Order: sequence, then structure tokens, then C-alpha cells
Amino acid sequence: MSSVAGLTGKAVAITGASSGIGEATARLLAAAGCHVAIGARRLDRLERLADEIRAAGGSVVATALDVTRREDVDAFVGTAQQAFGKLDVMINNAGVMPLSPLASLKVDEWDRMVDVNIKGVLYGIAAALPVMQARGTGQIINLSSIGGHRVTPTAAVYCATKFAVRAISDGLRQETDRIRVTVISPGVTTSELAETISDPEAREEMRGFRAVAIDAQAVARAIEYAISSPDEVDVSEIIVRPTASPH
Ligand code: NDP
Repeated sequence: MSSVAGLTGKAVAITGASSGIGEATARLLAAAGCHVAIGARRLDRLERLADEIRAAGGSVVATALDVTRREDVDAFVGTAQQAFGKLDVMINNAGVMPLSPLASLKVDEWDRMVDVNIKGVLYGIAAALPVMQARGTGQIINLSSIGGHRVTPTAAVYCATKFAVRAISDGLRQETDRIRVTVISPGVTTSELAETISDPEAREEMRGFRAVAIDAQAVARAIEYAISSPDEVDVSEIIVRPTASPH
């Protein structure tokens, strides 16, 4: 473990930390000296990650959480505060992407995307904001996407959720002058995200679309940069995408 200016000793809660970008971010921030609270549904994966972080000298607490349940998200933030005495940064990262054409009427999957990608972020804000307001400082980081900037076929609902994340974040930023608000919009990144696609055509299309991808660590580094900037600097949005992709 090393110490990095602007990061050492910060208490950071990360939803969706059992794989992909959340997992890479937890590793990177813990290695830089942050205390990390990691949450997701797959507790076995979180516990394995927590063991690795602890073995490397890092500070971590793992909690099972479903971001569609407000009480889970409140309890997650409570656990982070209890473990570390404060919460400096909330990273609302959990997300799902079961793409399909609207005509397939996969309404349950639309519901799931709205519940996880929008309501999950809102519940994260609802849990963290009062805590941060009481201290007069804090940072909320929300994961949007290049899909939050541009709509593509089969991704209408997913993109809508990611446009919503940007809208909510920008509104929150304008309403607060002490809490930093950051949107991270990754392009195609290696992770388990495409595994939530049940539509065979969309799955096949995505195979080509996702052939050029950046490593999850590249997104983690963007998050690290936003956190390590001085308190008076709000890095309000970062797009990080593969060089060799037009998307
Ligand atoms: P992964 O599928 O690898 O990770 C998603 C994480 O979200 C997992 O840890 C999963 O854990 C968690 N999750 C899903 N549903 C829930 C839930 N109901 N409650 C709690 N946790 C949940 O994908 P990524 O790492 O790629 O995704 C991270 C974020 O980045 C998402 O918001 C995604 O939309 C965004 N993004 C990703 C891009 C990419 O190309 N990879 C591009 C643009 C944006 P578990 O199943 O254990 O609950």
C-alpha cells in the first residue's frame, strides 16, 4: 500500500464492487491509502476481494447490498461510517445493461435497468447526501456511460438510464456548493456488463461493438483523479474511451 496526496485516509463507499469497474476502483483506491467499503449482491466475490485488499495492507469492509432496496443502501453507508468514522466519497457504480430492441417488449428488463441504474443511484444519493451535508464536505461520483451521450439501437432504455444519471448529477451539482459531484462516462470497458444481455441479436451485435475495449483500471484511474483533485475543484465529468473506437 502506498499513500497518494488527496486520497490517503479518505473513506470511500463503492456499489457494484464485485466485478469490473467497481472492483478495479476498490483495488486502486485501497492501494492508494483510502478506506474502502465495497457492496454488491455477490458477497462471496466481495469477501475474496476484501481478503486480497487486506493481505496487501489495505483497509476494507464488505457488505451484501441490493441497490434497488433503499434500506440496503442506507445500511451500506451506515456500515462505512461505522467502520471508518466518516464517509468522504460515495461511488454509485452498480449497473446492468440487458440490451434489446423495444419491440421485444422485455419490460421486466426495462424495469430492472430503471431500478438499478436510476433508482439505485438515487438511493445512493439519499443515503450519502445527508451525511455529507452534516459534515459540510463530500463527493458523490455517479457512473454514466458514452450511452449517456448518444443513443443507439437496442440501447434505448439503457441510454435513457444513463442520460438520467447525467441529469440527476448535474442537478445535484448545481444545488450544492460544498459537495463535489462527478460523472464518469466510460466507453466500452472490459467487465461482466454484457453478460446481462438476454436478447440473442443484441448479444451478437454487442460482440462486435465491444471487441475494442479499455481495461477497467483505466476507468478506475479517472475516478482516482476526480477524488484526488483539491476540494475546491469539482471534476464534474470525465469521458474515458478506447482510442481505437469511434463510439
Ligand atoms: P459489471 O457487470 O462487471 O459490474 C456491475 C456491478 O454492479 C457488479 O458488481 C454487480 O454485482 C453490481 N450490481 C448489479 N445489480 C446490482 C444490484 N441490484 N445491487 C447491487 N449491485 C448490483 O459491469 P461494469 O463494471 O462495466 O459496470 C459498472 C458501471 O459502469 C455500470 O453502471 C455500467 O453501466 C457502467 N459502464 C460500463 C461500461 C462498460 O463498457 N463496461 C461502459 C459505460 C458505463 P452483483 O451482481 O454482485 O450485485
